[in-house]
Amino acid sequence: MNLVVMPGDDIGPEIAAAALAVLKAADQVCGLGLRFAEVDVGMASHRKHGVTLTDEAMQAALDADGLILGPCGMTDYPAREEGGINVPGAIRKRLELYANLRPARSRPGIPDARRDLDVLIVRENTEGFYADRNMHQGIAEFMPTEDVALSVRKITRQGSRRIAKVAFDYAQRRRKNVTAVGKQHVLQMTDGLFMSEAYAAAKAHADVAFREVDIDAMAADLYSRPQRYDVILITNMFGDILSNEAAALSGGLGLAGALNAGDRHAVANAGHGSAPDIAGRGIANPCGMILSSAMLLEWLGVRNGNQAYLDACRTIHAAVDLALADANIRTADLGGRGSTQGFAEAVARLVHDKQTRKQKSE
Ligand code: NAD
Repeated sequence: MNLVVMPGDDIGPEIAAAALAVLKAADQVCGLGLRFAEVDVGMASHRKHGVTLTDEAMQAALDADGLILGPCGMTDYPAREEGGINVPGAIRKRLELYANLRPARSRPGIPDARRDLDVLIVRENTEGFYADRNMHQGIAEFMPTEDVALSVRKITRQGSRRIAKVAFDYAQRRRKNVTAVGKQHVLQMTDGLFMSEAYAAAKAHADVAFREVDIDAMAADLYSRPQRYDVILITNMFGDILSNEAAALSGGLGLAGALNAGDRHAVANAGHGSAPDIAGRGIANPCGMILSSAMLLEWLGVRNGNQAYLDACRTIHAAVDLALADANIRTADLGGRGSTQGFAEAVARLVHDKQTRKQKSE
């Protein structure tokens, strides 16, 4: 399998290197046959080529079996006309990564984590309120006068149908419970359309429990009664916000693993941003990036029917849990004393140990 690594900006290179160290350990002990190529994006690319995402980089993403994309610091990019392309946004659009999968769960030993949280947020990833990428041409924001600004939210039947299917498919492998989240009585046409497809999918999956909850009620209930929720089906912008809340409830944004997936491609891209405030200090939490990479292995395992990839994903999760439980290993955002590199080395070591123990017991 050919994996392309795009380190991104700010903490991106630090946490991408950490994820790579763990993937190499998993490759070695599980015999995955991974090959890695690194491709610059973001400001590193802009300095060399005058653009944050070159055509060659996009082609590398299209040709890869899987992509590991570090967070990109879009806020500091130059204007689009000066080469500042929103890298994750453009890749999501071109590779048709319509599903953003964002799990969040309570893990042992994490201070401030909400107990009994174990959710998978299935966020529609190509439409909604993302005005810079939800149109075929042009952007979905405009100003009819200098004092009036408008944004257009796009919801399609096809987009709603395919993301609902993803949510119900995952629910069948989990606790068989889907909650669709929106605000249908206000956004009557857009959320009305989205919800009609959610209800149709619910009808087709009679073994999965289903209900609809408003986004404002959900924001509170996820905090108060997280155990009620399993798979959360949600539109793009609401999903972005709710998944950050879920990550915070699990202990912090640094834990936010995420996968962007479509029918042919998948990209590991953590749920947090490029954290410029802590970049270059060796203290960023690489956990989200490591868990995102594990999700990519799982996606490849399911797609290719390859058990070794599924085992590697499980082994990484177990190693991450063990490393997080140790305050000397986990990073400062989680009340620990560890470094980015130290955490990665510990997880890589635990991956080796766990797999060695498993092989001995077989
Ligand atoms: P952010 O997620 O980068 O940071 C928010 C807070 O969380 C900061 O205090 C940061 O230090 C902390 N944090 C985030 N990740 C962490 C980690 N791994 N370890 C420890 N602490 C961590 O959000 P922001 O500050 O709003 O955005 C910064 C930049 O990231 C912006 O340029 C934004 O455009 C970009 N961004 C990129 C992506 C992506 O590439 N997919 C997603 C969101 C934001």
